[in-house]
Amino acid sequence: MNYYGNVFRPPSEARSLIIQATIGCSHNRCTFCYMYKDEPFIIRDVDEIIADLETEARYFPYYERVFIADGDALIIPTDKLVRLLDYIRENMPNVKRVASYATAKDINLKTDAELKMLHDHGLEMLYIGFESGDPEILEDINKGLTYEDYVKTMAKCKTAGFQTSVTIIAGLGGRAKWEQNALGTARLITDTKPDYVSYLTVRLYGNTELYRDWQQGIFEMPSPEEILYEMRRFLEHVDSEGTVFRSNHASNYVLLGGTLNRDVPDLLDAIDDTLEKKNFRPGMMRRL
Ligand code: SF4
Repeated sequence: MNYYGNVFRPPSEARSLIIQATIGCSHNRCTFCYMYKDEPFIIRDVDEIIADLETEARYFPYYERVFIADGDALIIPTDKLVRLLDYIRENMPNVKRVASYATAKDINLKTDAELKMLHDHGLEMLYIGFESGDPEILEDINKGLTYEDYVKTMAKCKTAGFQTSVTIIAGLGGRAKWEQNALGTARLITDTKPDYVSYLTVRLYGNTELYRDWQQGIFEMPSPEEILYEMRRFLEHVDSEGTVFRSNHASNYVLLGGTLNRDVPDLLDAIDDTLEKKNFRPGMMRRL
């Protein structure tokens, strides 16, 4: 398999075969995101991807999961994605799940019939970056999407039958907007009820606008305690029965896992215990 530039995948796709169907991200303007900053955005030719896959299908037929990267694979025209999905289904019989990153914008640009077709041809899970549910913070970070866009996205995903996994980021509003980040994001999760929520913690990377804002004092980085208070406030307000909640990313100060709303008391206890003992995961363990 040929890869170009930086390739990212969610932690839960660690054992998946990664197919790079696009290179980079077509948006590439989020202030906090370092992932594809120096890469021009390219949609790869489907024949070229399938040629790559032929080797994998022949010599490494054991893969059970496939993850389609990079940042927004759903920007690919539907007929081309269907060809790719059909190739996987017909030539990689052990594959039980195909997943992909998808931006809310790309999902909203597809019709319900197109999304259903993609699902019917084997695309099962979409990973979507919400980042925040607060309208002002979404503008601050240049996400290019609104609260209402996300609500529409999730309704379309549910209609088509996709499983959804969304990421949200504690600390993205800095010290000044911690509470509105917690409450706005809790409201968005409550309104959209994804299957999975992954709660990350904001980090500063040298090539980002957020880092420059921090250098200039425009953005104040919350302390570990403040991040945990924000997560606590989110958990106190979210109402999304059955959503699997994880805070197990390299960026997190505390590792949490459970099911909403059932496990919220245990999750709050784990946060309180970490706050009391001040045993935040050290930077090295958070791979900073
Ligand atoms: S966060 Fe996602 S949409 Fe924003 S620039 Fe990064 S990859 Fe693109």
